[in-house]
Amino acid sequence: MSLSKQTLALQHTDAQHHLHPFTNSRELNDRGVRVISSAKGVYLTDTEGNQLLDGMSGLWCVSVGHGRQEIIDAVSRQLSELTFYNTFFNTSHPPVIELSRKLAAVTPAQFNHFFYTGSGSESNDTIFRLARYFWELQGKPEKRIMVGRTNGYHGSTVAAASLGGFGGMHAQGGMLIPDVVHAPQPFWWANGGDMIPEAFGLHVAQQTLDMIDEIGADKVAAMIAEPIQGAGGVIIPPSTYWPALSAGLKARDILLISDEVICGFGRTGEWFGCELMGTEPDFMTMAKGITSGYVPMGAVAVSDRIAQVLLERGDEFAHGFTYSGHPAACAAAIANLEILESEQMVTRVRDDIGPYLQQKWQALAEHPMVGEAVMAGLIGAFQFTSNKAKRSSFPAEARIGMIAREHSFNNGLVMRAVGDRMVIAPPFSLTHTEADELIAKTQKVIELTYAHARNLGLID
Ligand SMILES: *Cc1c(COP(=O)(O)O)cnc(C)c1O
Repeated sequence: MSLSKQTLALQHTDAQHHLHPFTNSRELNDRGVRVISSAKGVYLTDTEGNQLLDGMSGLWCVSVGHGRQEIIDAVSRQLSELTFYNTFFNTSHPPVIELSRKLAAVTPAQFNHFFYTGSGSESNDTIFRLARYFWELQGKPEKRIMVGRTNGYHGSTVAAASLGGFGGMHAQGGMLIPDVVHAPQPFWWANGGDMIPEAFGLHVAQQTLDMIDEIGADKVAAMIAEPIQGAGGVIIPPSTYWPALSAGLKARDILLISDEVICGFGRTGEWFGCELMGTEPDFMTMAKGITSGYVPMGAVAVSDRIAQVLLERGDEFAHGFTYSGHPAACAAAIANLEILESEQMVTRVRDDIGPYLQQKWQALAEHPMVGEAVMAGLIGAFQFTSNKAKRSSFPAEARIGMIAREHSFNNGLVMRAVGDRMVIAPPFSLTHTEADELIAKTQKVIELTYAHARNLGLID
């Protein structure tokens, strides 16, 4: 298939001057990048004119779908009115004030104060400092150890990557900062052995609490976790995990940071993932879905317990970003929240399109090469396996997930591969017809990948 002159020129310039995130740029340059040039609703178009169903909402962020004119107009109006002003020096502006009011209304009751950033990573760096500062103000500076999880993803800045549990990220540049430890992840399919999922959920929660007790709870500041691990492969924990873990953390007076960058703003069918899991976090990390990705923005939700100590005893909090509460980002967030509310999109995810897609998605697990297929709200994954009964993995060199991702792109569907686990998080605006298309394309991807694996003799 020969590419257009325009595409070839763009690929050439990209290869010459653009270093991509989370990419082996040499390999990418050899094969040539795909250039996405426009998008509307749930569909992307590349420079070759191919249409792709965006099963990943961009990068877990475009919740309301691409190209919503209300958000575009709100941003444009705001830029005409007040392009930029900072929030550092005893100043504020209407959009950041309005957004703060709106966030207090949609977040769980304990959250009434918000700190703004430019991304999820910056939000987690902010929380890292706030959590320790909170204990310092309480006269407990020795409570400073932070607990993350294996395969947790909290961003790419130094503190966020240290909190995260991606070995590959820790390995480069020697950046693991001290006093961060990692607890196991509640990934039943891979690690549950002979236990039933409910027993395994309790087991992992107890392992985590044992780890904390070994360190000494008086030295542990906080635990950070995604309600459902996203970039780690959409790991939906067994139902027993969160109740046991959150009660154990509470009993030990350890703060819970719910990283809601993916789960927040409706992705799971509740406004926030912690509401689905029944936890009561002290902080929430927010980004991605807060603006549906139209303009970069992150935020930190600070619970009343923390805010009260900061307001009563705190000094100047020596931390902030030039773009904390950027007016255009706030305008995008407000317009995005208005769409979520006026079109009842969160309820739609919970009661309509969520269950509709889940039922078809879970049925993918009937295929001999699919070990499990899980979904909550509109975030899901299925696992490729070489032996379903034994829950066996393919050898990493076979790169089964990558093969499937390639088939998926070539058949007009964007899915992401995390190892041999295919993940999906489509826009909330997905119609039933589009959901059917997503499923049909996924089935085709599974068949093509199955044929590939059988040809290579990889299936037990
Ligand atoms: C994407 C993500 C982040 C990091 O957000 P950035 O905006 O990329 O810095 C943090 N936490 C979770 C759960 C994420 O998915």
